[in-house]
Amino acid sequence: MAHHRIVILGSGPAGLTAALYSARANLAPLVLAGAQPGGQLTITTEVENFPGFPEAILGPELMEAMRRQAERFGAECVHLDALSVELSRRPFAIETGNGDLSADALIVATGASAKMLGLPSEQLLMGYGVSACATCDGFFFRGKELVVIGGGDSALEEALFLTRFATRVTLVHRRDQLRASQIMQERAMKNDKIGFVWDSTIDEIVGTKDTGVTGVRLRNVKTGEATHFPCGGVFVAIGHRPNTAFLSGQLELNGAGYIVVKKGTQTSVPGVFAAGDVMDPNYRQAVTAAGMGCMAALDCERYLAAQE
Ligand code: NAP
Repeated sequence: MAHHRIVILGSGPAGLTAALYSARANLAPLVLAGAQPGGQLTITTEVENFPGFPEAILGPELMEAMRRQAERFGAECVHLDALSVELSRRPFAIETGNGDLSADALIVATGASAKMLGLPSEQLLMGYGVSACATCDGFFFRGKELVVIGGGDSALEEALFLTRFATRVTLVHRRDQLRASQIMQERAMKNDKIGFVWDSTIDEIVGTKDTGVTGVRLRNVKTGEATHFPCGGVFVAIGHRPNTAFLSGQLELNGAGYIVVKKGTQTSVPGVFAAGDVMDPNYRQAVTAAGMGCMAALDCERYLAAQE
């Protein structure tokens, strides 16, 4: 079993900033970059709110730069996922798809994944007109009329991006007020291609694998009225859930599955630290994740020094 002083799970802004700091502390961290190396920013387009980039930077470019910066100081990034961890023993054990590892300290920065509505029709038509990633799939919907579900920044970002391809984008939101930031609301409201259906949820996504999506069955939550809304694609953008299933029973999680941190980034198990979207249901920004990655690396460094 290969042994490392620090293993970092995840390679988004939190994981790679933790890698940068712990590499610069001479701890030669191993980063398990996971199934989506670079994290959620690799499926976004322009990042306009990461400090230092006045003209914006593409998400994948930002993540590539963070990886190179961490590697320059000795971090090693491998394309592996942690399948399970054993935190009741020392050193900690990590099962990957390609052999087991052990570590004196662990930083968990596995981020979060898109939530889905949970409808059978959504599952059936996933990849046949239903998507949770406009930047990945938007191109395939050229000339179509689309529906985006959600009222947060993600939904508006998806809707705005999809106007590049779609004839029209209709945002369906379950309330009559958006949760998104003011600037995103203003951009969406100003865009002639974007329309809104308020106070409505989706009962069913209509279509088959042969036809693709042909519409949605909407329900007005105030009147109960059901209507059919024709469209050629549905993008679900209703938030995220933390990637913590592999930690079940090993670390304290809250009711929504986020890692509970006690002091700084320290989790319920001494020597295990958490940073970024996997422990933060509130801020969820690239810059806050990076900041927490830095905190986790410093906490980890102090923990290892105290062990010696
Ligand atoms: P979010 O802020 O949690 O918004 C989720 C939206 O989906 C809410 O409007 C919610 O409705 C709706 N929703 C949740 N479950 C639903 C369901 N089962 N059926 C129908 N609608 C449902 O998530 P997010 O938009 O992914 O944003 C997450 C964080 O990332 C936020 O802090 C956001 O600011 C940030 N972010 C920032 C940017 C940017 O700055 N450009 C871009 C993307 C994300 P309710 O409003 O009724 O709860």
